[in-house]
Amino acid sequence: MTYKSIKGTRDILPSESWKWQWAEEKIRDVMHAFNFREIRTPVFEETPLFARSIGELTDIVSKEMYTFQDRSGDSLSLRPEMTASVVRAYIQHSLGEHSPLVKLYYMGPMFRQERPQAGRLRQFHQFGAEAIGAQNPTLDVEMIALAIAIYEALGVKKTTLKINSVGCEKCRPPYKEMLKQRLWKVRNELSQESQRRLESNPLRVLDSKAEEDRRAIADMPLLKDHLCPDCLAHFNDVIGGLVGLGIGYEEDGHLVRGLDYYTKTAFEIISKDLGAQDALTGGGRYDLLTEELGGKPTPGIGFAAGIERLMMVLEKQKLFPDGATRTTLFIATLGREAQRWAVKQALELRSRGLCVELDFLDRSLKSQMREADRLRARYVMIVGENEMVNRTVTIKTMETGEQKSVTFDDVTNFFDISYNQ
Ligand code: AMP
Repeated sequence: MTYKSIKGTRDILPSESWKWQWAEEKIRDVMHAFNFREIRTPVFEETPLFARSIGELTDIVSKEMYTFQDRSGDSLSLRPEMTASVVRAYIQHSLGEHSPLVKLYYMGPMFRQERPQAGRLRQFHQFGAEAIGAQNPTLDVEMIALAIAIYEALGVKKTTLKINSVGCEKCRPPYKEMLKQRLWKVRNELSQESQRRLESNPLRVLDSKAEEDRRAIADMPLLKDHLCPDCLAHFNDVIGGLVGLGIGYEEDGHLVRGLDYYTKTAFEIISKDLGAQDALTGGGRYDLLTEELGGKPTPGIGFAAGIERLMMVLEKQKLFPDGATRTTLFIATLGREAQRWAVKQALELRSRGLCVELDFLDRSLKSQMREADRLRARYVMIVGENEMVNRTVTIKTMETGEQKSVTFDDVTNFFDISYNQ
């Protein structure tokens, strides 16, 4: 009996993990440059936290959450996204008392029981940012600029920013009612999925990708034409800010997000290099969420971005740097005594920051040299019985083939000089 990873989950093997680390480091650098600080929250929470924030009737909560009862009978769920957890932590730790605008970022695994396909997994990873405490439309612009700055730092080309307003508690309900009535008239032309959503979540019908829905909703009224003066002014302000920064955008009146907590600004960054699941990033404003979760009324805005999808684009656009990490030094040894010396020497060199590998399989010198090649070692140091007697080693610089005899006492010095060049 052997075991396999669960459908929709993946192992990130060493041949790939260095790429993740490379991207994560760049993401962190940009987050820090924008003065966002990392938050790490548990991967599971009380189920009602997600039901309250994301919405009982959304696909995520009604169909996709990994929900289970623990041994004390509490209903817990693996987090399907992070905003709810971040806002929970914001309230629980009174973060707003220390700073009027709290800027947080995160990276980590999320869990949704979706139908797995390219770019859609059941355990996937997101990075994201949340800014809690300001209603200023310039902050919306700053958040969009942050997401774009990250893709730019990674070298990603050809992304498109789509933007819309999903209104607020004043203008959305009457629009929703009107939309429902209009959709009702064409319900027979809608897909099964949209017919089901018509009652529960009519706004989602608007961003359906199904061909028959597209036709049926072509001339439906759009929320952006029915915004209240406050939401309209906010939207125009955000657009003005984007123009001011020279950020290209497409207004998309059909863009509604799959989470109920959004208000006003909603946006997505998409890539044509992704195929059907083309969204790299989704985000928006959530001015009512903190209050909804029991905190003081506090506006906020954030975005979440899929890391697997980012990896697909980076791969497609050939943006990873050349090659995996290299071993700096391989110490080839012959005999137990030489091995013992090598272990000690390796400790010393590693404490100075070198990546050092040695042989633990008692291989022949020839096969140790092959291993050094496979590891792309920059240097190989050979220690056999003679070397132990003479207290001298041979160090070969692999790129040039140059060999040098170095006394035991001079080994660290040799690498201090060579490695720092
Ligand atoms: P959402 O939280 O649904 O707004 O998603 C934000 C981003 O996370 C999306 O734009 C995707 O890049 C990514 N994402 C969401 N769901 C998945 C999934 N099941 N598998 C992989 N990436 C996902």
